[in-house]
Amino acid sequence: MKYFPVFFDLTGQKVLVVGGGEVALRKISILERSGASISVVAPVIAPELLARAAAGKLKLFIREFSPDDLQAARLVIVATSQRALNRWIASLSEARGIPVNVVDDAHASRFIVPAIIDRDPVLVAVSTGGTSPVLARRLRERLEALIPARIGELASWLKALRETSRRKLRDTAERRRFFEAIVDGAAARRFIAGDSRGATGIARRLLATTSTAPRADGEVILVGAGPGDPELLTLKALRALQDADVILYDRLVPAAVLDLARRDAARICVGKAAGNIGSTQQEINALLIEHATQGKRVVRLKGGDPFVFGRGGEELQALAAARINFSVVPGITAALGAAAYAGIPLTHRDHAQSVTFVTGHSLEPGKEPDWRALALPGATAVFYMGLARLDHIVDRLLEHGAADTRPAAIVAQGTTPEQRVIAATLATIRGLAAGANLEPPALLIVGEVAALHSTLAWFNTYSAPDLSQTG
Ligand code: SAH
Repeated sequence: MKYFPVFFDLTGQKVLVVGGGEVALRKISILERSGASISVVAPVIAPELLARAAAGKLKLFIREFSPDDLQAARLVIVATSQRALNRWIASLSEARGIPVNVVDDAHASRFIVPAIIDRDPVLVAVSTGGTSPVLARRLRERLEALIPARIGELASWLKALRETSRRKLRDTAERRRFFEAIVDGAAARRFIAGDSRGATGIARRLLATTSTAPRADGEVILVGAGPGDPELLTLKALRALQDADVILYDRLVPAAVLDLARRDAARICVGKAAGNIGSTQQEINALLIEHATQGKRVVRLKGGDPFVFGRGGEELQALAAARINFSVVPGITAALGAAAYAGIPLTHRDHAQSVTFVTGHSLEPGKEPDWRALALPGATAVFYMGLARLDHIVDRLLEHGAADTRPAAIVAQGTTPEQRVIAATLATIRGLAAGANLEPPALLIVGEVAALHSTLAWFNTYSAPDLSQTG
């Protein structure tokens, strides 16, 4: 290890910067955050630095460097464009025992400045020992993506929690166990997800029970997996998948999404496939409760969005009744995913003032949708689970006054490489669908906007460029 890493408290300490150009400015911008008292010496000064001096953020000396400038400095940063001058200033600093950095000259520097991720009070510093600033930046970018945005707030929250817990938990081992449970458990995850009240609630409960009996704090996260393309997952969904102990998933969830889950997570398919009865809702509820009660992080993964024809609400009711912690991560519902990938803007304002999501699979007679409203022009209707009942849907719409020239489209396996779109009218869609051998899942979109597919299709279509005009 060539360099020894430290974090230096510079509050109110004099830091001398020699140089007044862009390079100096970049260093000064970071230094300012540390609360250092910054002195800048240079015969020529960038306007931005003049402005900062006017705002009282630093002291400017518009002249050549003089050795007296080193007086009382705790750190020196040298950033002039003259290599010999830089090295001379470095040797003077060295002689006085003041740590010095010469920008882009590690050889002449006593210390180097790392690439940082600043999530105050959390600070991550990356160094390649001066070998490659580009590599350091790339590493930083990767870490940046891994570290939750709210990690700094989390640290401050934990600090406040330390005060509270000290009163209740006198024993250090007990306190450590408490904080491990907070940091590794649902409380920190809640906090990171933006729910600080939920996190505080969990922490309070844990604090109330820690000294008596350590209690498992399992939870269920109801996660929307999106319509198919794994890149349509939200960042929160991805994080939940990577933190999961157990994943209960539906048949609709694409394999490519499951591939993103934590390798050690147990995967349980609870979906109904044709010819396979699948688990009943009661069985699924019981599994969720059982795993969460064992203290596990359970992800309940559903296709699309869990609250859109997904029975997510029923599962949450069961969890609430069993007093299990839960949270919900929304997903892109099939209607939005399939419409986007089929080039069908659901409420293009020239053609539609509303969009309705309808289930084509009514469980009981008497639960039919309002066909008259769905048949009106200027409104878009998206039918989920409608392919098997295409006849019924088209007949009802026509009966209730829809024109048979009304555009309609079927999007099968939307957002996946197998996506297929049939754009037609209410008069022709049945015939086309029957001949097309479409694979489920599929959606039916009815309304003027369905006709826009012919001009706005962009995914999985190929139109040969017209080469006749060139050359
Ligand atoms: N919760 C899901 C819907 C579950 S109902 C969501 O929000 O998307 C299942 C129905 O969704 C299927 O019958 C089909 O109509 C539709 N569906 C799901 N994925 C689809 C896809 N990739 N392409 C087209 N339709 C899809």
